[in-house]
Amino acid sequence: MIDTRVLSKAVYFSWLLVLQADRSRLKRKLMDILACPVDKFYPLELQVFEEKEEITSGVIICPKCNRWYPIIDEIPHMLPDDLREEGEDLPFLQQWKDKIPKKTLQEGKPFNLDTDRQRS
Ligand SMILES: [Zn+2]
Repeated sequence: MIDTRVLSKAVYFSWLLVLQADRSRLKRKLMDILACPVDKFYPLELQVFEEKEEITSGVIICPKCNRWYPIIDEIPHMLPDDLREEGEDLPFLQQWKDKIPKKTLQEGKPFNLDTDRQRS
């Protein structure tokens, strides 16, 4: 049996590798082509945490639905909710909470620090 969840993630990340092959175009211009995977809203907001030649870490925020997408090791993780891992996303929010807008920390989807606090 093929796990479709793993499969769609694999397809998604191989697409990202193709995208990343053309490094010169990646950087901020990436924002010109990225749309929210849930509601297709465009353009998205970008917060950069660390930047070398490329944006190494940051967060992409959809102002329409309040969803946020992490950029980790130069890779934007633009995954729909059902492919998100709370165990990866919450530590990311914690790590960068000083640089992430308050609204995203408190109301961001699919996970935010408020839902985390309510549960514990
Ligand atoms: Zn959205």
